[in-house]
Amino acid sequence: MINLLDLTYSELEAFVVEDLKQPRFRTDQIFQWIWQKGVRDFASMTNMGKALREKMAAMASITWPEIAKAQESRDGTVKLLLRLHDGKLVETVLIPFKERFSQCLSTQVGCAMACKFCNTGLLGFERNMTMGEILGQVLVGRKFLLDKGFGKLEGPNPIRNLVYMGMGEPLMNLDNLLRALETLPHENGLSISWRRSMVSTVGFPKQLRILGKTELALPAISLHAPTQELRAEIMPKAARTPLDELMQCLAEFPLRPRERITFEYLLLKGVNDSLEHADQLAKLVDKSRIKVNLIAYNATEGMPYGAPDREQVEAFEKRLWKHGVTAFIRRSMGADIKAACGQLKASEQ
Ligand code: SAH
Repeated sequence: MINLLDLTYSELEAFVVEDLKQPRFRTDQIFQWIWQKGVRDFASMTNMGKALREKMAAMASITWPEIAKAQESRDGTVKLLLRLHDGKLVETVLIPFKERFSQCLSTQVGCAMACKFCNTGLLGFERNMTMGEILGQVLVGRKFLLDKGFGKLEGPNPIRNLVYMGMGEPLMNLDNLLRALETLPHENGLSISWRRSMVSTVGFPKQLRILGKTELALPAISLHAPTQELRAEIMPKAARTPLDELMQCLAEFPLRPRERITFEYLLLKGVNDSLEHADQLAKLVDKSRIKVNLIAYNATEGMPYGAPDREQVEAFEKRLWKHGVTAFIRRSMGADIKAACGQLKASEQ
């Protein structure tokens, strides 16, 4: 049975016309029920006749991921552990941002990148998530927030921004990622505006070029090291793309006025957090086209890395500014609920 969440607008249209033998305008009605109104049973689709609703129910489902566990942090961050139809677990995080929320989405069950410091990397790769599973996280997240009194279904979506920074490597699941990005802004759907998505990746030039052409999202590059040698040590698979090749590809990434490419730089105590590393980083980047987000490592038991000292993080940031590099220290949200990538799932297994 087909899950309607897995269909893009034009695929849904083909389903309506070819399988349901219905006029095209039904597509908008169904699309709206599924994505805008968050309906999960065909019986609720009251602007369609009973016979049609029954026919749909016999041919298709609207299956959301289930919440296996919800954790709320003192700072308002919510972490949801989701169970997919085959029992696989992924994580999504809702992060308060002014009056609304940013949502961190997973794109794969597990991850094949095996970065040395990452919990998800430790778990290994299981499978890609479908478009319906990727966007299903937004449906579940929105309902969770609406139920808690944030926003109204008829009003603007309480989720304003999406970051593809959860489990998995989004650019290794490019097809489903692009289908999701294309489906999001639809006015009869989730209506999360165009370019409110940021795709976090270790960086693959070929896929970055494709993403750039779509103009649907900006990349955030998980750099974490200013030299090829150090990067190869902590991110062995990612570093198969030489750093100079990655930088060259980013130099060509199309940006609009005021847009920048984000570099994420995770500070690992005693590994990549010295002022010399900051100097190397400043030399590596094109200051006018990028900004750096500094993130103190969220230490997990059993991992061979530690969190840097607060003073070191501040000194690192200061040094980057001295070189003219725009840099920000990102608050580490939800530390009390294990909100770092893969931490909750790891603790469940
Ligand atoms: N694969 C993608 C997206 C998922 S990881 C990527 O690498 O960008 C999202 C971010 O969290 C990455 O920058 C990753 O390096 C970082 N991360 C992983 N483990 C972390 C931890 N324990 N503390 C802080 N950040 C972590």
